[in-house]
Amino acid sequence: MTKLNNKVAIITGASSGIGKAIAHHLADTGANVVLAARRAEKLQELANEITESYNVEAKVVETDVTKKEDVEQLVKETKDQFGSVDILVNNAGVMLLSFLKNDHVDEWEQMVDVNIKGVLFGIHASLPVMLDQDAGHIINVSSVAGHEVFPSSTVYSATKYAVRALSMGMEKELSRSGVRVTNISPGAVDTELTEHITDGEVLDMFKDRSMDPLEANDIARAVAYAATQPSNVNVNEVIVRPMHKK
Ligand code: NDP
Repeated sequence: MTKLNNKVAIITGASSGIGKAIAHHLADTGANVVLAARRAEKLQELANEITESYNVEAKVVETDVTKKEDVEQLVKETKDQFGSVDILVNNAGVMLLSFLKNDHVDEWEQMVDVNIKGVLFGIHASLPVMLDQDAGHIINVSSVAGHEVFPSSTVYSATKYAVRALSMGMEKELSRSGVRVTNISPGAVDTELTEHITDGEVLDMFKDRSMDPLEANDIARAVAYAATQPSNVNVNEVIVRPMHKK
């Protein structure tokens, strides 16, 4: 394992769930962390937890990833304060599952904006910096739903397939650039993600779950594993699923 001392990692969607856990794990391996999301109070609480627990700096940048200027500012503030942008974790996402026949078109649009455009803006803002450095690591959080489609996940899956396509294309385009690319695909994880679902038929379906979901830390360990490999080792794809109940 390579320690991340003197490196800086930006984590989007750090105000809860998987992003929060990733911030803890990367800080634990020595990285300074820049915490991005819309809920600045939650980010500040996390920054305080991190600076009390690990010998690193934690910076908060209130960011809406659907706004290109916000993401540009996030990367600029990181570079200005820490002198580099070593790791970007494109984790912010929404999963507004619904059946197509129920026509939740505003939620489809929101998923495209956060899950696809948010990742694209992250690449747009950070990649030139990483190419200049001849080094960097972009970690995209896709989903098992970016490998399989199930009823009600059609649009969500479309966004997560897109994230995977971006990861695969970047890995090929950047393989000689010093910039590593990792695509992480979690299965069900116990977070706030499902609390925003509004389609009643989907909520009914969820009552019948046949698995114990993973914990956010289970995914954060996979991210830390990829981030702490030697610089010549490019962990491109990690899928982490929960076991089904017997
Ligand atoms: P949470 O709902 O706990 O976290 C989602 C995060 O995304 C929050 O920090 C939220 O912050 C942030 N976010 C949402 N919209 C925006 C926005 N416009 N701008 C900036 N940040 C935003 O869910 P998870 O931790 O589970 O989700 C993290 C990622 O993992 C997502 O990409 C999700 O699709 C993926 N995933 C999750 C799975 C699961 O079962 N939980 C399974 C597979 C993948 P805020 O509201 O403060 O802006």
